[in-house]
Amino acid sequence: MAVKVCKFGGTSMADANIIRSVKQIIESDAARRFVVVSAPGKRYSGDKKVTDLLLACHKELLKDGSCKKSFSAVRSRFLDIVKQLGLKIDFNAVLDATLDRIEKEKSEEFTASRGEYLCGIVLAEYLGVKFIDAENVIFFNENGTLNGDKTYRAVSLAANKAGRAVIPGFYGVDGDGKIRTFSRGGSDISGAVVARAVNATIYENWTDVSGFLACDPSIVDSPETIETLSYKELRELSYMGANVLHSESIFPVRKANIPIQIKNAFRPQDVGTTIVPTSRYMPNGRTVTGIAGKKNFTVIYIEKSLMNSEIGFVRRVLSVVEAENISVEHIPTGIDTMSLLIESSDLTELKLGRILEGIKCEVEPDIIRVIENIALIATVGHGMSSSVGTSARLFNAIAAAEINIKMIDMGSSELNIIVGVKNEDYERCIKAIYGEFFKN
Ligand code: ASP
Repeated sequence: MAVKVCKFGGTSMADANIIRSVKQIIESDAARRFVVVSAPGKRYSGDKKVTDLLLACHKELLKDGSCKKSFSAVRSRFLDIVKQLGLKIDFNAVLDATLDRIEKEKSEEFTASRGEYLCGIVLAEYLGVKFIDAENVIFFNENGTLNGDKTYRAVSLAANKAGRAVIPGFYGVDGDGKIRTFSRGGSDISGAVVARAVNATIYENWTDVSGFLACDPSIVDSPETIETLSYKELRELSYMGANVLHSESIFPVRKANIPIQIKNAFRPQDVGTTIVPTSRYMPNGRTVTGIAGKKNFTVIYIEKSLMNSEIGFVRRVLSVVEAENISVEHIPTGIDTMSLLIESSDLTELKLGRILEGIKCEVEPDIIRVIENIALIATVGHGMSSSVGTSARLFNAIAAAEINIKMIDMGSSELNIIVGVKNEDYERCIKAIYGEFFKN
């Protein structure tokens, strides 16, 4: 029998109205047995997410030894929802106990996790189903990564006993019994973990958009929705900034070949986007599946004659960056040149200075230069490898828009071509690429 894991959160849990629709969605399909929730998000632009309200509680707690003031905003968000849903539960008591524990634990991760915890209790109560606290089934290692084996065993044990159940996302517990969280947006990962543990037929991720768009709608007017995407394409696009889904959430489901479906809780009738294992990917006739990008990279450009014959050159350069605990995003190389692309936000002036000195000392380059304010744009699609002339079309479109390309990196999988342009050309470049591959 089909088993679906559905994750709702953020705007699709923001107020009582949408929670009523969420109940209908869940109850309209008996296979929707496991529901993972994240904390209520923004109800309107300018509103605050519950997780952000909780992070403010933690700041107040550190400063004043108590966080009663900031917690009142969290309290009223939840009391509103509980009242409007007509729940009989004494939620003030649940909130009091939560505030007590926040003030005792004094841990940022614990405090941040309470939005999911409280939201889980509300939804379980509203649906009349079991609440499985993530604290009892999701386990973290000391270094903050998931303890997969222990988690999958515990979730599947708890899930088998439950009919339908609600599990809060975003957090779990480490070996010392301390609450730990994934990075922001991490309930998507929890949903994927639960899907893997119960061997779900599908992992439905319900959001407020009707799927993955071929590019950022704030740049191109109503871009196409991508109906099917492979795990690999998703990974490339979400790593490069397309943020419908947390970029790490594919790992648990990919291992078990479980498809992910992105659906819109506000428009459940829309098809959405299905993300399938790369092996089951069916060509959709499109050369390019999607375009995504990020601004604000720094390029460290290094030139040295005969660099390619110097054994260990790349390793020595990279060891300097590694010593600063900084990751390099791309390393385009030529015969006598190499560039390091680094997210500018990772580099302080001091670190950059040390890296430049370190490289000079290690490899004595002829020229070393820093180029700032670079944007990277990834054009992604399985179709790119099988059609001749894709890169020519891409570069011609960019040239026709009179944009100068600063860097090109073509993955050997031929799944993506990444170009670096000036920050100020970023939007125009995406429009030009979209125009070439989607409007023709
Ligand atoms: N509530 C957390 C956040 O705002 C986790 C999530 O939404 O998935 O990041």
